Amino acid sequence: MRKQIVAGNWKMNKNVQESTELASEIVEKVKGLDLGNTRVIVTPTFVNISEVVKVTKGSAVEVAAQNMHQAKSGAFTGEISGEMLTSLGLKTVILGHSERREYFGETDAILAQKVDAALANGLEIVFCFGEVLAERKADKHFDVVESQIKNALFHLDAAAWKNIVLAYEPVWAIGTGETASPEQAQEMHAFIRKIVADKYNAEVANNVSILYGGSVNPGNAKEIFSKEDVDGGLIGGAALNSDNFLALIKSF
Ligand code: PEP
Repeated sequence: MRKQIVAGNWKMNKNVQESTELASEIVEKVKGLDLGNTRVIVTPTFVNISEVVKVTKGSAVEVAAQNMHQAKSGAFTGEISGEMLTSLGLKTVILGHSERREYFGETDAILAQKVDAALANGLEIVFCFGEVLAERKADKHFDVVESQIKNALFHLDAAAWKNIVLAYEPVWAIGTGETASPEQAQEMHAFIRKIVADKYNAEVANNVSILYGGSVNPGNAKEIFSKEDVDGGLIGGAALNSDNFLALIKSF
């Protein structure tokens, strides 16, 4: 059975004290919950990962990274390798976030290399993709999403997909307060599951968790998460407050 996941993307927010405080609050509050089939993930910025790993140790809260470089090591000033993440005990990395694509020039081709590097390090990938508003308005959103997935992931064999989590994040809904309707999310998630089934098989498609991201908050999560093909959320703003984040986890 595929997992439900609530993953908080902290982006470039919270210094080390604030990060450990938020992580500790989440750890405490999650203790009282029966998580069942739900995974809880937080992704601090790189410099705060070690400290957050310490305060979440032994808890149900997993720590992931927001990005990594595709090379093993070398002269890449300012970058972080997959091996550096696993050496901290991390099991998961987010790749392809729209902010990485837009502000840091990450193309599908670069992302395909990052995917390979992450898998080579035994990391699970939360792979993000989604259309911009003009593409949705032009009715190109299905094509855009299909090509983003195809270009970065369809070179993988079926076995590799046990380490892939998909995150559909329509760019027009990220940090804007605008959310895809539960029906729009479900429509896209069902489409994604179908293209994965067509490329691989029904088993791969049914086992892959597909998260929705884009202005999910305690007021709209329940309805979005209740959709058949929505297996949780990648959360930005609402993940920066432990009460809000807990409310999202409880939405399942
Ligand atoms: C995100 O950046 O992945 C995201 C979904 O942000 P927000 O929830 O703030 O829209």
